Amino acid sequence: MDKRDFRKWSHRASDWSADYQETLGQRPVRAQVKPGDIGRLIDAAPPEIGQDMETIFGDFERIIPGGMTHWQHPRFFAYFPSNAAPAALIAEQLANTIGAQCMLWQTSPAATELEVKMMDWLRQALGLPEGFSGTFQDTASSTTLCAVLTMRERALEWTGNTKGLAGQKTLRVYASKGTHSSIDKAMWVAGLGQDNLVHIPLDDKGAMRLDLLQEAITADRQAGYLPAGLVVCVGGTSVGATDDVAATCALGRKEDLYIHVDAAWAGSAMICPEFRTLWQGVEMADSIVFNPHKWLGAPMECSAHFVREPETLVRTLAIQPEYLKTHGKEGLVNFSEWSVQLGRRFRALKVWFLLRAYGLEGLRTMIRNHVAWSQNLASQLDGEEDFELTSQPVLSLFSFRYAPPGFDGDLDALNRHLVNAINDDGRIYLTQTIHDGKQVIRFTAGAFEMEEADITIAFDTICEIARSLK
Ligand SMILES: *Cc1c(COP(=O)(O)O)cnc(C)c1O
Repeated sequence: MDKRDFRKWSHRASDWSADYQETLGQRPVRAQVKPGDIGRLIDAAPPEIGQDMETIFGDFERIIPGGMTHWQHPRFFAYFPSNAAPAALIAEQLANTIGAQCMLWQTSPAATELEVKMMDWLRQALGLPEGFSGTFQDTASSTTLCAVLTMRERALEWTGNTKGLAGQKTLRVYASKGTHSSIDKAMWVAGLGQDNLVHIPLDDKGAMRLDLLQEAITADRQAGYLPAGLVVCVGGTSVGATDDVAATCALGRKEDLYIHVDAAWAGSAMICPEFRTLWQGVEMADSIVFNPHKWLGAPMECSAHFVREPETLVRTLAIQPEYLKTHGKEGLVNFSEWSVQLGRRFRALKVWFLLRAYGLEGLRTMIRNHVAWSQNLASQLDGEEDFELTSQPVLSLFSFRYAPPGFDGDLDALNRHLVNAINDDGRIYLTQTIHDGKQVIRFTAGAFEMEEADITIAFDTICEIARSLK
């Protein structure tokens, strides 16, 4: 591309983005392509000679959007949301243009200082006490890895990084059975091993059973293991499993465990004071993660990692070869010392635009609407004779299944069939899970541009397709 044409093509991209947003509701939500359909349309080898932008842009329009699942679609009710609020997108364009590598204060003073401030804005927004500070990691998976590494180094008195794990005591980490697979993966990557993540069974409300947690810790100590950490779940991915945060943290503290709270999805709702009972006691945690890129409106990737004692995290992750030292500027924050990767994007800018453009009150209204609308849909489905709620709403997440009276076939198969039929239809997008041994369908509202009418479409679509299955 001739660089004098940059302005033209960036205008074209902006126009495309605006058109996309305006017409998004008319597209099917889930990509309606089969595996390989898109790959076949892409050349097998890179071109030797540069191509013109008209062709490249045309191919983008022709091939890519139709092969995407549209996460910003107002009727995306699957997984958890992934939002990209328009004002935050503008910030992403600007940050991408600057293209900074925000590893050290010196490589990006404004990005670093804005990040310190934005993490503090978010701390206040969530009602966390002063003293928590933090950084933006890429994802909750990375954040949890950082927390598990911190558990490991703290328990091994900072000898794991230098000596490795051979010959050390075997460390144990505890979490409920409702926690996310990213905790398991962090155990793999940290070298602690899947088998040393002790999954504690849930009570009938979906919380970790503390009597069993206590038993497991005591038995492990007697068996010569070294209990190192505890992961507390707030709003689990399947059906929103949530631990009793205050009591679980109190037990963790008594046992001198490093406590990490995973509120990747539910954390955004904590900007509404009335929902904070869900994580009451969270100030006892050492580390907390929530993803503004899920429900708050920050585009991927934006995971807020709060810590009570940054020194513990930094002692685990800081490495300073000579070429990374900033002589004469000791004591500055270098955020690469708070994360696994060295290179970092400028993530704070989108949070700054987001919080200012919509205000906390604007974002609270969005979240309150999502919660109220989902809960209405849950009661509507519950009121139909042929549907049953299989888990009560946690914020905007609930699960249900189709169970027509008199049906004597395989209900699991029927519900798998239903979710596929709904997604093939394209008006809405849902995903399934297993709950209490049953195949159920999840529903969660969270798209930034969703409206109440989208819930009516969801209800009508679900009922219509379910009742047409034969
Ligand atoms: C989404 C989610 C994760 C993983 O988040 P990523 O940012 O995709 O790594 C972890 N825990 C919970 C509870 C989640 O909902």
